[in-house]
Amino acid sequence: MATSKSKTSLREDLTCAICFELFKEPVMLGCMHHFCRRCIVSYWKSVRSPVTCPQCRQEFPNKCCFQTNYLVANLVEKVRASSSPASVKYLEKELNDCLESQCSMKDAYISMIRKDKDKMEKIKKTGAELQGRVHNDFQALHHFLQVEEEAMIEELKREQEEMLQGLERHLEALQVAIRDVEKNINILRQTAGSTDQSVLVELPKLNSRPISIDI
Ligand SMILES: [Zn+2]
Ligand SMILES: [Zn+2]
Repeated sequence: MATSKSKTSLREDLTCAICFELFKEPVMLGCMHHFCRRCIVSYWKSVRSPVTCPQCRQEFPNKCCFQTNYLVANLVEKVRASSSPASVKYLEKELNDCLESQCSMKDAYISMIRKDKDKMEKIKKTGAELQGRVHNDFQALHHFLQVEEEAMIEELKREQEEMLQGLERHLEALQVAIRDVEKNINILRQTAGSTDQSVLVELPKLNSRPISIDI
């Protein structure tokens, strides 16, 4: 839209105010207004003096006060060439190609966005599943370890209890043994202290209950 508008206004700028067509051999007057060489020459021929610009009415000393403007002439040629049917057709084709390419780029971007969103959904879903699985596995592991811990503590308690009971039995046996030994010591002392050594024909009968040293 902007291009076509600027093209129109450029075309207007390059249009002769006398013949209303694109300049042919454009010339510039001292007032900077442009006309076709033929148009301004015939305009000045048709009017009597003074020599003036048909647009701004500025007066000039003679009918030679203009110069060829090659820059404008080149611009006119370019605008004329770009307005030819072949050029318009070429530009239309370029425009359509460009439009088509932009549309397919848009489609490609939309498809990439869809793929990215699908991937994000998949990552979120897989992540949640993995988190759930890890949580469950660790819960099972905690339960297993708790059961194992309890069983091991029970086993340790049982072994400790057995050892303590064994030691208690051993202690009791030792206490009985020490009482027996004390009785024996008394008997032996009494026997040794007896005045009548002749009656001692044999050692007095002593208490002896064997106990194991190990528990
Ligand atoms: Zn003209
Ligand atoms: Zn003028």
